[in-house]
Amino acid sequence: MADCNETLRELDAFLDSELSEETRVAIRFHLEECPDCFQAFDFHAELKLVVSQKCKNDEMPPGLLAKLQQCFGDPDEPTLGDDPFAATDELDAGPDGA
Ligand SMILES: [Zn+2]
Repeated sequence: MADCNETLRELDAFLDSELSEETRVAIRFHLEECPDCFQAFDFHAELKLVVSQKCKNDEMPPGLLAKLQQCFGDPDEPTLGDDPFAATDELDAGPDGA
């Protein structure tokens, strides 16, 4: 039914529950068969979760998402740990100073 490209294209809509039941079932079915897509979905689901949690606590600095994606794109890069601001050097002089 759905192939990898099609599945990945619907990734965001799937995670945001914007798809019809029929499409969701097709994607879930594909994920069960395809570890690559499953990993991609799992990964993005977690990324969305982290970002939404960070957004609740702090204002999202512009470019943070790009930084996150950069880090995730290169597994050899050091990860952000629990402090995403550690990776945004240009933003370290915030108004709070802390
Ligand atoms: Zn696939």
